Amino acid sequence: MSFIEIDNNKCKSCYLCIDVCPFKLIKKSETIGKTGQNIVEFKDENSKCSACKMCAMMCPDIAITKVWKT
Ligand code: SF4
Ligand code: SF4
Repeated sequence: MSFIEIDNNKCKSCYLCIDVCPFKLIKKSETIGKTGQNIVEFKDENSKCSACKMCAMMCPDIAITKVWKT
């Protein structure tokens, strides 16, 4: 299994990570962030994350701080 960690304090709700994830594992959350919009969360019920790091590379604010495999 693979995981990512999103820093809620850094996320500016641009949603680039949602678009780039090939498995659509990043979604808008209920939490409002620093720009007054919903930040994002990682949901991988079917363990599809490949740890490709595309989301981390795409994030302009380096809010996706860790990508790891167990
Ligand atoms: S590491 Fe890759 S597969 Fe995993 S959430 Fe990020 S973009 Fe999606
Ligand atoms: S790309 Fe980064 S700043 Fe933009 S929504 Fe995703 S985690 Fe937040």
